[in-house]
Amino acid sequence: MSEQKEESIVSETPVLSLDDKLGLVKRKIDKTSHIEVDQEGFKNCPDRPILFICPSNVYEEHPETGECIVNFENCLECGSCQIVCRDYVEWKNPQGGFGVSYAFG
Ligand code: SF4
Repeated sequence: MSEQKEESIVSETPVLSLDDKLGLVKRKIDKTSHIEVDQEGFKNCPDRPILFICPSNVYEEHPETGECIVNFENCLECGSCQIVCRDYVEWKNPQGGFGVSYAFG
């Protein structure tokens, strides 16, 4: 019986952390926000999923006023907030020339 050697396959693609990948996203930030939040709608939303679904932590709840803080400059333009929280979030594409650009598509 012959001994078989297993060949290992070594990937030449470096493994990147999420932070490394996010560092590849280029942004040109506009002075004005492309996101508007209806504060009453936010406050009346029972579970406020917008605070959890955004992959880039754009939305925060102000600890004292309870209002929604919008860090629009972090937006990755994934569109999730428009699907989940369309009742009180108005999201538009950034103006031409602004927003994110991805290195691989
Ligand atoms: S589009 Fe995506 S990244 Fe931008 S604010 Fe909405 S959920 Fe966050």
